Amino acid sequence: MLPTVLLISFLLFSLRRDPTGAGRPGRGIGGLFGFRETTAKVLKDKIDVKFKDVAGCEEAKLEIMEFVNFLKNPKQYQDLGAKIPKGAILTGPPGTGKTLLAKATAGEANVPFITVNGSEFLEMFVGVGPARVRDLFVMARKNAPCILFIDEIDAVGRKRGPGSFGVQSEQESTLNQLLVEMDGFNTASNVVVLAGTNRPDILDPALLRPGRFDRQIYIGPPDIKGRASIFKVHLRPLKLLANLDKDALAKKMATLTPGFSGADIANVCNEAALIAARHLSDAISPKHFEQAIERVIGGLEKKT
Ligand code: ADP
Repeated sequence: MLPTVLLISFLLFSLRRDPTGAGRPGRGIGGLFGFRETTAKVLKDKIDVKFKDVAGCEEAKLEIMEFVNFLKNPKQYQDLGAKIPKGAILTGPPGTGKTLLAKATAGEANVPFITVNGSEFLEMFVGVGPARVRDLFVMARKNAPCILFIDEIDAVGRKRGPGSFGVQSEQESTLNQLLVEMDGFNTASNVVVLAGTNRPDILDPALLRPGRFDRQIYIGPPDIKGRASIFKVHLRPLKLLANLDKDALAKKMATLTPGFSGADIANVCNEAALIAARHLSDAISPKHFEQAIERVIGGLEKKT
């Protein structure tokens, strides 16, 4: 008897508790089980990341800027009979600045920005994923015009396949709900959905068709010019030797770091500062940067 009694009392307790304390009225079961509500965050205040902090990916920036323009002046497009695109997917290797670009879009656009991570839809309980997707879009429609950013969309957008059981079927119903919300009877007006992923190859084709994510924006590893400008961004807050020319240093470092992504470059700049601090210097010198590049490529120096 004891386990049964414990189980029942736990259930009663969880019914009473309302974990988020939100207690939003009129949501039926959703109000009782707070975990069915979306975990997305709405950013309305000023975000301090701007387009000038994202260096290099100029083409991607132009495309994203267009989405901001769609939301700000929809009339300009609708007068010509154009429909506002529903969304774009940002793809590219890790650390090339997809999340950063989305954040900068939020900083530039004067519209609410809702951000959520793909993995937040996956829970232990059946039915939570689709419920959260539904709640997310209700929230987005309430805040329209707005931008909705789903990071790491491959967590929910994986290709559907045969053999659906357990976790997979839960993930499929979450994906189905997402497909319906993006292009179904509930068409969201004036909500632009951006998504980021490193794995566009495993995404479900239905997600990528026009009408859902109309555009794919590829952000590749930066070229030499891009790297120099990323270095400039990350050198800005550092305390360098007084007579050091930042532009020349950025150019030189860009030639030394082929194949580095934006995140690697940020790491090099930080390592240089750490090395300078370790040597008790008052300012960072080019030698520290060289050591930092070696550290990032080859690991810690072996004294033996
Ligand atoms: P991901 O593409 O994996 O989402 P992020 O956007 O999270 O990568 O980038 C990680 C970090 O790398 C950023 O916080 C930023 O410091 C740096 N970074 C990447 N790309 C750029 C860029 N184009 N300009 C400036 N910093 C960048």
